[in-house]
Amino acid sequence: MKKIIFATTNENKVREVRMMMDGLDVELCTMKEAGVDVDIVEDGTTFEENAIIKAKTIMEITGEIAIADDSGLEVDYLDGAPGIYSARFLGEDTPYSEKNADIIRRLEGVEGSDRSARFVCAMAVAFPDGRIRTCRGTIEGVIDYKEKGTNGFGYDPIVYVPEYGMTTGEMEPELKNSISHRGKALEQVKKILEEELQ
Ligand code: IMP
Repeated sequence: MKKIIFATTNENKVREVRMMMDGLDVELCTMKEAGVDVDIVEDGTTFEENAIIKAKTIMEITGEIAIADDSGLEVDYLDGAPGIYSARFLGEDTPYSEKNADIIRRLEGVEGSDRSARFVCAMAVAFPDGRIRTCRGTIEGVIDYKEKGTNGFGYDPIVYVPEYGMTTGEMEPELKNSISHRGKALEQVKKILEEELQ
């Protein structure tokens, strides 16, 4: 069974990835389980670059295949902000109620499709022979006029997905996972691993 390290300390993400990898002959480990304790500086300029930095660092430390992700919210009217700075937007410790209110305020007077936004998730897989493969999943929406829903986290209450008539914060976790940026990126990672581990 092939060992794969997932470069995150977020248990929720690991659980989601484990579910997706079900059926593949791999043993998925967290950084903690792999005995890796390292602070990685995410100084890339794109989601992909940040994912690569993380995956490559963990692969080099462990000598095993490593997967990493980087995600965030892009608001078109704000030239793609908060983008790769989504977690740090207005300060790491600022409550999301404030971050969300701020985005809604900045879009005052902006209507319809001009409020377009998307969640983006890039994933990178780093192989011990030095090869790196990346993929990206997105979910398109518009910024709502107020927060709706208490499911999910972060920017979920303000991202309204017209196709489903609700924000991602109003979606049941199973629905969100099946259509989300992260879910879509993970499906591609699964395909990459299926190809590479044949
Ligand atoms: P990271 O990829 O764990 O660094 O997350 C980046 C940030 O993007 C999170 O802290 C959230 O602010 C935002 N984000 C990423 N995915 C989601 C999501 O599914 N819902 C809400 N916010 C998200």
